[in-house]
Amino acid sequence: MRDSHAPALIPARQLPVKSSVGGGKIFTRQFTGRFRNLRILLAGCLALLFFSTSWVQWNGHQAVLWDLETRQFHVFGTTFWPQDFILLSFVMVIAALLLFAVTILLGRVWCGYACPQSTWTWAFMWVESLIEGDRNQRIKLQASPMDLAKGLKRTSKHALWLLMSIATGIAFVGYFVPVRELVQALLSLQWFSTSAAWVGIIAALTYLNAGLVREKVCLHMCPYARFQSVMFDRDTLVVAYNAARGDTRGSRKKGDDPQALGLGDCVDCYLCVQVCPTGIDIRDGLQMDCIGCAACVDACDEVMDKMGYARGLVGYMSEAMFAGEQTRWRRPRLLGYLALLLVLVGGLLWALNNRHLVDMSVVKDRSVLYRYTSEGEVMNVYRLKITNKTQLPVRYHLQLDSRDRLRLVKHRDIVLSAGDSDEFPVQVVMPVLAPRAAAMLSFDFVLVDSNDPQRTTREAAHFLYPAN
Ligand code: SF4
Ligand code: SF4
Repeated sequence: MRDSHAPALIPARQLPVKSSVGGGKIFTRQFTGRFRNLRILLAGCLALLFFSTSWVQWNGHQAVLWDLETRQFHVFGTTFWPQDFILLSFVMVIAALLLFAVTILLGRVWCGYACPQSTWTWAFMWVESLIEGDRNQRIKLQASPMDLAKGLKRTSKHALWLLMSIATGIAFVGYFVPVRELVQALLSLQWFSTSAAWVGIIAALTYLNAGLVREKVCLHMCPYARFQSVMFDRDTLVVAYNAARGDTRGSRKKGDDPQALGLGDCVDCYLCVQVCPTGIDIRDGLQMDCIGCAACVDACDEVMDKMGYARGLVGYMSEAMFAGEQTRWRRPRLLGYLALLLVLVGGLLWALNNRHLVDMSVVKDRSVLYRYTSEGEVMNVYRLKITNKTQLPVRYHLQLDSRDRLRLVKHRDIVLSAGDSDEFPVQVVMPVLAPRAAAMLSFDFVLVDSNDPQRTTREAAHFLYPAN
């Protein structure tokens, strides 16, 4: 008796393999499998992080907020100021190097499992199949004339896509303006603001990219696809078809001996093509259009299981594996990237730990070079601008570091609230001693954080003095 699910029964080439009845639209088939589950898990976690992080509160503030108005970036109790943005470049270089290292090791796993474009496209495709049915139903629907049923399905699909796009727009803009205020403003119909306009722009881009343009973003717009092949080496694991095992391709009944029929293990069912979100045939070899999502691996594994063959006709393979060699994990380029990553991550941690949490600038009063006090001391006047870069109020103690007998006049501790900045006049005096040759003395203003006396900030200054 014939197995009704056997791949041999799938009418290969009878339905369009990848494109629709018109317009070149790709209709992907639903499938299950371990790599699909892994993608749902990874992409699901990332999407959950994206939608929820901006709602988390920390010390009474939004935990992650890039406040464009004040140009401050708040991350879980730490505030980064424009002067700290060099650290952001560090983070970006580290992210790029990490991507390079992962690409050398595992090909385009970023594209297949974590890239927002792929993640949102998969989510939009899932909604599409929920409303319009499986691949064959969608192809028929596309070809059918417009009637009430088709109109309802199309309207529901686009309405859901729009809702998902608006949610994405709100979540994204919520990292730049306080998300609670943003949602409140949108709910009270305040739609004519810059924030609301940005929600609209991001929502429109999401709808366009994930709903309408989809794989074309990966194929024609993403620069990563262009240079990824340069990063591959003969040990990089990429999704590939084992032609030596699969060819000659051909349909057969379950239980037939392929050798006797002069066939390889590929039953030519085209399932690997029909699940592919970019619509390519992995059996044509490594292609730039392959985003490494492993949908074809899951589809083919299912076919192999049904036929009673070993899995892995399509799978993660390297050039070295095809040549019958062991994949080398210790490769010079990979080790180079890892070493560089280690240095950069170490540097970033050091910079974060030694980051100044207070900013101090000193300007000397230019109207008078110096003056004499009633006690006959020489006085210089300065203006100190101090910025508390933390998210907590801080009391600072000001002192001088000088080899000469300089001292502050009647100076009290400075208290600044979180993120506050203020200017303070400061008087420094020195007793008139024996005549000096130098007309200028160097010293440092030292600001001590009274919560953590080990944390000090210095700023150099000059004291002008009547020379003889
Ligand atoms: S590679 Fe696998 S899924 Fe693709 S046509 Fe051959 S048997 Fe079917
Ligand atoms: S060929 Fe396979 S791995 Fe590549 S994009 Fe298509 S389904 Fe994904």
